[in-house]
Amino acid sequence: MYDYDLLVVGSANADLVIDVERRPAAGETVLGGDLAVHPGGKGANQAVAAARLGAATALLARVGDDGHGRLLIDSLRTAGVDTAGVLVGGAPTGVALITVDPSGDNSIVVSPGANGRLTPEDVRAADGLLRTSRVVSTQLEIPLETVVEVVRSLPEGGRFVLNPSPPRPLPGEVLAACDPLIVNEHEAKVILGDSAAGDTPEDWARRLLAEGPRSVVVTLGAEGALVAETRTETERRTDESGAGVGGGVGAVGGGVDVEVTRVASVRVDAVDTTGAGDAFTAALAWRLGTGATLAEAAGYAARVGAAAVTRRGAQESFPTGAEVEAL
Ligand code: ADP
Repeated sequence: MYDYDLLVVGSANADLVIDVERRPAAGETVLGGDLAVHPGGKGANQAVAAARLGAATALLARVGDDGHGRLLIDSLRTAGVDTAGVLVGGAPTGVALITVDPSGDNSIVVSPGANGRLTPEDVRAADGLLRTSRVVSTQLEIPLETVVEVVRSLPEGGRFVLNPSPPRPLPGEVLAACDPLIVNEHEAKVILGDSAAGDTPEDWARRLLAEGPRSVVVTLGAEGALVAETRTETERRTDESGAGVGGGVGAVGGGVDVEVTRVASVRVDAVDTTGAGDAFTAALAWRLGTGATLAEAAGYAARVGAAAVTRRGAQESFPTGAEVEAL
């Protein structure tokens, strides 16, 4: 019945990177190093991460009819992503212009380009992809109305995962569909508002859950992650699957009806955290579709995120399933 374990609906960008001694001031020109062009964008990153792990993965996205678009489609196909849903034309391919200074700090200008032209109509036309995918995952580098249309187009019982990046306030309809909503610290604070600044990650998880999602995951870099869902939701799922809640995790408390569980990170020598969140989200979404509990899926995703930070780059750093097993 399902053709795909995971359908990612999201962005595809060409990342254009130049090392510089220092950033130019207004009106100034500086010379930099050789240009490096990398495939990126959160949607393409997630799709590549899932396919590399062994998930049957499709991407619904839009690129321009240009060299960057062809580069992106090539890299997706090489990773094993089904690109039938990658639409071509309407605007130039999305680009991130990135300068990196000697301390490793970067400055980035993003031109969304074709990503901004992925429309609700494109989602309706991809109904076949949505109906044949176990899990659908999105981010916010495409228009919000397109994400809303994904939520409205989900088949009965379809599972929806959202990483709201870059973060912005979300309509209740989208929040209510998230299972889970996956946020890092910055995203949690933007979605909750400034009042979140003094709270602990456990508080963010509980407060985010109160905004309407069916479950919440807060990623904490080297500290691993927290998963939160209501006890009634956990029990309902356990009844449905006949399975218990997974091992390797410890409950850290909750409100009246909320269970917050800590997922340990794997200790690694981190060299570059770019794309770790994308790899984590893709891995978690895939495992959920195979019947894992939220805690089990997050435990696996934490290993994938850890593996991804041990290598430079985004897509280039994503591990295979065998590499995750070996970790
Ligand atoms: P984002 O990239 O969205 O900011 P995080 O930095 O929280 O997301 O990383 C996502 C996940 O990747 C974390 O929850 C963790 O499991 C894993 N991870 C990230 N950085 C490290 C690290 N230095 N060591 C081990 N695991 C890491």
